Amino acid sequence: MNQQPTPDTTRVPLWGQDALRIRDALRQLLAPTPAVEPWPDGVIARYVTKAADLTGDVELTVDVTKIDGGFRRHCRGCGDSFENFWEPAVRDSAQIHAERCRALPKPEATR
Ligand SMILES: [Zn+2]
Repeated sequence: MNQQPTPDTTRVPLWGQDALRIRDALRQLLAPTPAVEPWPDGVIARYVTKAADLTGDVELTVDVTKIDGGFRRHCRGCGDSFENFWEPAVRDSAQIHAERCRALPKPEATR
């Protein structure tokens, strides 16, 4: 009888399902997050958007930068921005926007 070998993806290791759960938990813990990525020059605060939570795309953030005469927040998901002279107002606005924004940036056209 000619039996096909079982693919590796479905094989359970000898040490069992617990090992798989631990492996998956470790992979999730070790995945890159905005907290460990270097921030661009000038960014003083960064907030992860709702879309980043849903997709795992850590590039989707709302960044706060200092500008002439105040501060600016800019969403890297939808492109929305807001400026004010008072830093706490801009940070609060960034926090609120990040909690709600589900936008994904439009993909670049490829030819
Ligand atoms: Zn947005």
